[in-house]
Amino acid sequence: MNNTNKDDNLENNQDFIREIISKDLSDGKYKRIITRFPPEPNGYMHIGHAKSAFVNFSIASENNGKCNLRFDDTNPSKEEEEFIHAFQNDLKWLGFDYGNKVHYSSDYFDQLYSYAVKLIEMRLAYVCDLNQDEIREYRGTLTTKGKNSPYRDRTIEENLDLFEQMKNGKFKNGTRVLRAKIDMSSGNLNLRDPVIYRIMNIIHHRTGDKWCIYPTYDFAHGQSDSLEKITHSICTVEFEDHRPLYNWFIDKLNIYPSRQIEFARLNISGTMMSKRQLSELVLSNMVNGWDDPRMPTISGMRRRGYPSEAILDFCKRTSITKRTNLVDLSLLEHCVRENLNKSAYRVMAVLNPIKVVIKNYSNDSFEEIDALNNPEDPAMGSRKVPFSREIYIEREDFAEIPPPKFHRLTIGKEVRLRYAYIVKCVDVIKDEKGEVIEIHCEYDENSRGGKPADGRKVRGTIHWVSALKSSRAEIRIYDKLISEKEFDEENSDNMELNPNSIKVLKNCPIEISLENASEGIHYQFERLGYYILDSQDTKSGSLVFNRTVSLRDSWAKKSSFNLK
Ligand code: ATP
Ligand code: MG
Repeated sequence: MNNTNKDDNLENNQDFIREIISKDLSDGKYKRIITRFPPEPNGYMHIGHAKSAFVNFSIASENNGKCNLRFDDTNPSKEEEEFIHAFQNDLKWLGFDYGNKVHYSSDYFDQLYSYAVKLIEMRLAYVCDLNQDEIREYRGTLTTKGKNSPYRDRTIEENLDLFEQMKNGKFKNGTRVLRAKIDMSSGNLNLRDPVIYRIMNIIHHRTGDKWCIYPTYDFAHGQSDSLEKITHSICTVEFEDHRPLYNWFIDKLNIYPSRQIEFARLNISGTMMSKRQLSELVLSNMVNGWDDPRMPTISGMRRRGYPSEAILDFCKRTSITKRTNLVDLSLLEHCVRENLNKSAYRVMAVLNPIKVVIKNYSNDSFEEIDALNNPEDPAMGSRKVPFSREIYIEREDFAEIPPPKFHRLTIGKEVRLRYAYIVKCVDVIKDEKGEVIEIHCEYDENSRGGKPADGRKVRGTIHWVSALKSSRAEIRIYDKLISEKEFDEENSDNMELNPNSIKVLKNCPIEISLENASEGIHYQFERLGYYILDSQDTKSGSLVFNRTVSLRDSWAKKSSFNLK
């Protein structure tokens, strides 16, 4: 299912979540909206998280409410400080304001422990000695009922004593758990006496060695929402079946009732979107770290040159629905292009060079040609580009035997060199294999600026770089991360990395002005695409450019086709 309607249900800025919230406000159910963005710090922020952050932060600000950033750090085995810093950095870069306070589920470990004790005292929780496999076996399946644990009827005293011993480190990892006592025959597997505390002798990044038992996500999440008085706890649909469990805890503990609303995860074609899978790519060195420009992470996108405004624009344009949807990558690229078209500096670079010698141009001189920095925005001014007898053009811009409608360079025909002169191909030089290795042209000296004095029509315009006065760069071209055309949620582990996801071109001629290129500035290499200096691998005197996106807009084509 492709998300082809650009603005989908945001036409009047109302989606089903906003509708629920408006109604709750008008019914007087809540006075001030508080949402939260609750990442688990076990990986870097990706565009799916950006979507969730966008929903939570924008709904809060539209309603003069607030959105808490809360790290759901209940599983110390997978969590790291590095991820916490990275999330904060990425959120700030995207412009999300989470205020001065960062919340952590671990802030509530004491409170959560006393909630667990309270459940034991109400005979609603028990210490269970079954191991993981046995618990799974006793749980039953969707079609068969579960079986009660033989430890289900322990007395309150015994449970309190055992739970305290668990807390005091008296038992080994995995030997006992605390479970909620709900209903082993419930149609909802989440209600079949779920585990709420497990023993993990692991140092926690914030609480150190204070705890050797940790609450499960299911036990911590809803209660953390409640403790922060979150009015609307917006999450993704896989938690729909957990909602009755969260409501059960809230009801039994008699605490502040946050309202959970689920929407479909954002999936994008040509990439994967789970921290677990992305982490595998990083750990197995299949990519160069979390900020590899091919990654759907915010840090990867930033390094690749996606502007934050374009990412937010994309989040806004993709609809909020209940059903799973797969958004075409071309929409994201469209948002990037639209943004960069307005702001990027135009320059010239040649990726696959072939030399052109202009036979009637003076041998030893070069001249400076005026070139606009951005025809979309005259305020961006112009620059001087050196022109000389020898230049490079793209190999693909010349054809000895031109295909139909080829408006580029071919023997006996004229073409315009962008901002410079009209040239005509008069000859070619070939190597022993018969391949063209040099093109000989003559220029029309009365066509400076690309306008022939006699007004004759020359259709094609190609880009070029002086061979005499230019610079060189490594240029990295990216393609989809995975080969699969359609996202396959069921078989997402089988997705293969696209072997052509990166292509490195060394020693490409680039316009001399790029020697002063600076980090974070977007360039349009004319006729090729948008590029940015690589923030990691560029060293002084050796420039590395990442292609942010090509110029060809398949989204615009598709959507105009759809409108017909
Ligand atoms: P992942 O598998 O990538 O780790 P997750 O849901 O476990 O995903 P969390 O760190 O727990 O990741 O997510 C933080 C918030 O972001 C949650 O509210 C989650 O629902 C939301 N989120 C994560 N991925 C997406 C996505 N693809 N689309 C929309 N929201 C998402
Ligand atoms: Mg998670």
